[in-house]
Amino acid sequence: MPMIIDTIALDLEGTLISNAVSQFPRPGLYDFLEFCSASCRQVVLFTAVPEELARRILDLLVEEKAAPPWFRSVPYVEWDLHFKDLDNIPSADASRSLIVDDNPDYILPEQRSCWIPVEKYQSPYPDDDERLDRARRLIEAIISRQSPACDVPGDAPDECDRIQSR
Ligand SMILES: [Mg+2]
Repeated sequence: MPMIIDTIALDLEGTLISNAVSQFPRPGLYDFLEFCSASCRQVVLFTAVPEELARRILDLLVEEKAAPPWFRSVPYVEWDLHFKDLDNIPSADASRSLIVDDNPDYILPEQRSCWIPVEKYQSPYPDDDERLDRARRLIEAIISRQSPACDVPGDAPDECDRIQSR
C-alpha cells in the first residue's frame, strides 16, 4: 500500500513564484499544484509573505491560469517567521507531511527529511526551469517507497547539500 501523505506545505517566494513583487509563476506551476492536491489530504501555503498580499498573488495566478482555481482558497499557515514547523499546521499529521521550500534556514533540523528542497527561482527566470518537476519526482518516490516521509530522505540530501553549500 502506498504511503499516504497528509499535508504538503508550499512556500511561495522563490519556490512557486519569483517573489512577491514581480510574481512570475515558475514553469510547471499549474501541473505541480494539481499533482500536490491529488497526492495528499491537504495542501497549505507556508510563506513569509503576509496573508493579504499572498491572497492577492494567488488571485492573480488563478486569473492568469497559472494556478488552478482551488489554489486561491488554500489554507494559510500562521507562524513566527523563525522556523516552518510542520507541527504548527492546524490539523496536520506532521509525521506524514512534507514541506516544499527553497530556503534551508526555515527548516527545523529534526524535520529536514520532510523537506522537499527546490532551488530558488530567480533572475533570469529561465523558461525551461524544471525544479517543480523534480520536486514532483521526489514526492512520487516518497509515496512509492511506502514508508513515512520522515524515514525516507530519498534524493533530497544531495539537493539539500547542494543548496546549502552555495
Ligand atoms: Mg522561499
